[in-house]
Amino acid sequence: MARGPGARAAQSTLRGSRATASERVPPSLTSASGTAASSNSSLSGSSIFFDMEEYQPPVWKSYLYQLQQEAPRPNRITCAQKTASRPKHYGREFHGIISRERADELLEGAEGAYLIRESQRQPGTYTLALRFAQQTLNYRLFYDGKHFVGEKRFDSIHDLVTDALITLHIEAKAMQYISQMSRGDPQNQRPGHPTLHNKHPNSCTENHRQVHGPCALKERRWRYEKAHSFKTHTFRGPHWCEYCANFMWGVIAQGLRCSDCGLSVHTPCSSMIPFDCQPDLCRAKRLFGCDLTTLVKAHNTQRPLVVDMCISEIERRGLMAEGLYRVPGSTEHIEELKLAFDRDREKAVLSEEVYPDINVIAGALKLYLRELPIPLITYSLCCSFIQAARIVSPEPQLEAIHEALLLLPAAHYETLRYLMAHLKRVASLEKHNLMSSESLAVTFGPMLMRPPDQNSPLSLDDMRYQKLVVQLLILHEDILF
Ligand SMILES: [Zn+2]
Ligand SMILES: [Zn+2]
Repeated sequence: MARGPGARAAQSTLRGSRATASERVPPSLTSASGTAASSNSSLSGSSIFFDMEEYQPPVWKSYLYQLQQEAPRPNRITCAQKTASRPKHYGREFHGIISRERADELLEGAEGAYLIRESQRQPGTYTLALRFAQQTLNYRLFYDGKHFVGEKRFDSIHDLVTDALITLHIEAKAMQYISQMSRGDPQNQRPGHPTLHNKHPNSCTENHRQVHGPCALKERRWRYEKAHSFKTHTFRGPHWCEYCANFMWGVIAQGLRCSDCGLSVHTPCSSMIPFDCQPDLCRAKRLFGCDLTTLVKAHNTQRPLVVDMCISEIERRGLMAEGLYRVPGSTEHIEELKLAFDRDREKAVLSEEVYPDINVIAGALKLYLRELPIPLITYSLCCSFIQAARIVSPEPQLEAIHEALLLLPAAHYETLRYLMAHLKRVASLEKHNLMSSESLAVTFGPMLMRPPDQNSPLSLDDMRYQKLVVQLLILHEDILF
């Protein structure tokens, strides 16, 4: 689809920084304005949907797209004389110090006409005068390598004016439509979201199918919640919002895009999206150092592969090993195994032939936990667990730990539960491996819970309780989870 002639606008550009109090910015410009969404073509192409029976084609709404096409085009009013004070970054649209009235005369009658003038009262400050709806609008203009009047930054004045005219036009014609766009009846307002979004082209289910065949789809999917990681995005070519199905207008920064799954929505629509991000597998290539929820969502597994595979190997041949988890394995071999996991994923080989020393497997599991960007017991809950452990009376103490566990993200909870059940089995063989729940807690405490601020590490007292938390989790795994 060709980019329309008016495909550039300045919505949030126009948000702050007006020139002077008397200069007008329509109030609508301060409202949340459009944001772009993913490419229309990527959503309508049938090849990306693997389940055609369920797929209902979304109805993309063309109203805002048409409005953008109808927006006035920039019409540069150039200055005939050479203006000595012209800054290098302005062209012949710069008219030097002229009065507001003179600018008004020059722009009169031509929608989209614009010029730049220098302030009479404050030389060195510049104003963009723009004709829209038979009025001259004035904006204080800034330059720091890019041109801007609000948040959006443009390479050229032409782009800025194009974006501004689109936004002004769309907001003048469709203010109410926009304000209702992401609200209202969800049935009507979410034509794409439920079907489309769950079958996002890059989602792991699609990848899974390619790898494992259709039967893999029947496998239970782990329904962990994951919030999207939305960031402002400039879309190339026309884009439609995957939440409300409306066009995302403007030239740059038309909307938000999730950096994990690519979901693209208007800024106001982003607050309506449930926590159902399905990360793209290729964005979670590495197993180590990847956010736990992102990883299990991307791989469609209940727990991280590394945790499951290391624990099953240790349970197969290592539970009796003296000093299990305390004795370090060879750093070199642990690094090698980490690379193998990142490269081969579930095909990584942990066998006795390759790694005769079980401490290498144990070391890889510990390294995995240590490298989690958010620890298994999350930063935000670290203090709650420590406070719970401080309670002297055993029953309320366990009750408080249980309460804190319930606040963990589901994937963290499940992984912690699995790990604690394993450590309980390790501790039950203390006679052989000499690892008590207490010594396991000493080893695992620092990798399972870290204080949010690295500059203020846990006090000695807190560390005592950190150990106690993990010990209690091991001892009472059966009742706590
Ligand atoms: Zn996402
Ligand atoms: Zn939207």
